[in-house]
Amino acid sequence: MPTYNDYGIVLTSYSFSEADKILNIYTRNNGLVRAIGKGIKKPTSRFGGKTGQLSCCYFHFAKGKNLDILSDCEQINAFPKLRGDLIRLTYGMLFVEIVSSFAYEMESESTHIYELLYSALDKLQITEIPDLFSIRFIMEFLSIHGFRPQLETCVSCSKNISYEGSRDYFPFSSILGGLLCNKCSHSIDHKKININVLQLLGINDELNNIHPIKQEDIRLALELVREHTDMRGKNKIKTFDLVFSL
Ligand SMILES: [Zn+2]
Repeated sequence: MPTYNDYGIVLTSYSFSEADKILNIYTRNNGLVRAIGKGIKKPTSRFGGKTGQLSCCYFHFAKGKNLDILSDCEQINAFPKLRGDLIRLTYGMLFVEIVSSFAYEMESESTHIYELLYSALDKLQITEIPDLFSIRFIMEFLSIHGFRPQLETCVSCSKNISYEGSRDYFPFSSILGGLLCNKCSHSIDHKKININVLQLLGINDELNNIHPIKQEDIRLALELVREHTDMRGKNKIKTFDLVFSL
């Protein structure tokens, strides 16, 4: 039976039988791997304690017919400071659910995605601003997939968007996934978003320190990325409900 090794982060796992579990793992070189952990639920399992959600390990797999088989693993990082903090843990679960929703086997950007997720979970352990940090993570993750909301040019006609002047709001098309110029906003359904929310989403770094950050704007930015990811991923991201209840 052919074997392979790879670094990976456990996204989710679920029971398969009395003693076995299926693990969905995002790996550095192979993208999404679904593997069966035989006997993993038994107290005597040598890797049961190392393969919880969010755990990063160096995995040894055997190629199976339908599912690969987890044959061993060495834990690299359990991100302990996430597990001891409900707020950070919730954002960590949000990250892995979003990665799951866009993950495929053998995708070409797997190394980039794995490293972004690893680094984000590691930094999430110490950041004092997990909500802002999460918006940046999601925007960077969407960029890798080519799904980042388009904020620099009109998503309909490609005209440059100007952030100058004192505009109350900017028209944003959820379906097209970006800002609209004034002309296009007359004929395309849109919602209105303010400059503070655009800054939180990462436009023009020079503007970043001009406005004080309001909790209400952070919530609006998170709601916008939620709608955006829900419309483009494989599944709706349920952990946003937990994030909004924090
Ligand atoms: Zn336009």
